[in-house]
Amino acid sequence: MGNLPGIVVMGASGRMGQMLVHTVLQSDRARLVGCVERPGHPWVGRDVGEAMGGAHIGLPVTDDAVGVIAQAQAVIDFTAPAATVATATLTAQARAVHVIGTTGFNPEELQKIRAAARHAVIVRAGNMSLGVNLLVGLTRKVSAVLGPEFDIEIVEAHHRHKVDAPSGTALMLGEAAAEGRGVHLDEVAERGRDGITGARDSGAIGFSAIRGGDVVGEHDVIFAGAGERLVLRHIATDRAIFARGALAAAIWGQDRKPGEYDMNDVLGL
Ligand code: NAP
Repeated sequence: MGNLPGIVVMGASGRMGQMLVHTVLQSDRARLVGCVERPGHPWVGRDVGEAMGGAHIGLPVTDDAVGVIAQAQAVIDFTAPAATVATATLTAQARAVHVIGTTGFNPEELQKIRAAARHAVIVRAGNMSLGVNLLVGLTRKVSAVLGPEFDIEIVEAHHRHKVDAPSGTALMLGEAAAEGRGVHLDEVAERGRDGITGARDSGAIGFSAIRGGDVVGEHDVIFAGAGERLVLRHIATDRAIFARGALAAAIWGQDRKPGEYDMNDVLGL
């Protein structure tokens, strides 16, 4: 038990936070050593099992991120961009593996994460599931085979609480499609169409986002040509797939060299 990696879950009260707490507690390959929420959060000081509506497990939620991260081998973080950037500094100091599932970073924040990865292992992915990471590879391949006469559109759907669009996964798929064509996504992305937009640019990669209800996450990559259409689709029905991927990343990251990795490295794709 003592030499199993100790895991801290950031944002333990969140949708993904609670799923991560369950997943780590059920695992025989890791142990839960800390659950963090921000100062003033109603869960701080409460037993995490009871706060989640279950049995007492003897681990109180804390707002002392520095204290618990110092005791941990890995930190799993599905929170918000500013919180994750602050945590990256702490994990770098503690030389703990930082698994980042948070999405919606701006370029400056990504730069700070890259700087932290000089000192510690960071595994960051907009989607931690096996299926989506396979879909990324397939998208790159299909995009390389089909010429620009096929229009690429990425359509995603998520629950009503999601705050960023397009989703981190949609952007991963867009990057893969752009790589397949040998172009930079920034130069060809078409986002947020509204009104008289003019005809579609040849070679554009378009994004659309649907928000509603309790949709866990759905992504279509559409290759629309003259007379035929190819659609690659992933449907997530259970958040557990992301939590299991994140825990696998935390375990995989032990004893690796500092650097920024993604789920392709973890899954060996
Ligand atoms: P959520 O339910 O809003 O949970 C976010 C949690 O983080 C909340 O409990 C929030 O607390 C907490 N938090 C925010 N700032 C914090 C801080 N400074 N310190 C500690 N905790 C803090 O959101 P979610 O649906 O779980 O999603 C979280 C993130 O994961 C999003 O960026 C989402 O896109 C991403 N995600 C990624 C994947 C993947 O596979 N990579 C899968 C699903 C979701 P408050 O309630 O106090 O704000």
